[in-house]
Amino acid sequence: MTEQKMNVESFNLNHTKVKAPYVRLADIKAGQNGDRIHKYDLRICQPNRAHMEMPALHSLEHLMAELSRNHSDKVVDISPMGCQTGFYIAMINHDNYDDVLTIIERTLNDVLDAEEVPACNEMQCGWAASHSLDGAQALARDLLSKRNEWTSVFA
Ligand SMILES: [Zn+2]
Repeated sequence: MTEQKMNVESFNLNHTKVKAPYVRLADIKAGQNGDRIHKYDLRICQPNRAHMEMPALHSLEHLMAELSRNHSDKVVDISPMGCQTGFYIAMINHDNYDDVLTIIERTLNDVLDAEEVPACNEMQCGWAASHSLDGAQALARDLLSKRNEWTSVFA
């Protein structure tokens, strides 16, 4: 691995040392008017050992994007990582890590109760055929079963 510090925070994270699942504060950015964005790394699968299948990941993205906003108006964005091992969650003017865990937990419980994936149609989504509610719920169930592990990032 390169010794040089890179621009992207997660490129400086040694992915062989982490232990999924976890929730990690990855970055804080302040705007010129004092607004602050807290960016979290929600790691679901162990890097280079496991990954989410795209339909399940995609449905979990839709579900968390829609349902998390029932629990907080500070959610800016929830986006999947290209390596399919987790999501980034950006919050504005919200610096309470424990509350973020609670928001994620409540959102995942809502995922388990969901009867359909929101916006999985060609009008509202860019790949409406690639969804799996069952897959998303299996991911949510597994993540919730390891709730007490979320706060420890490194093995
Ligand atoms: Zn979509």
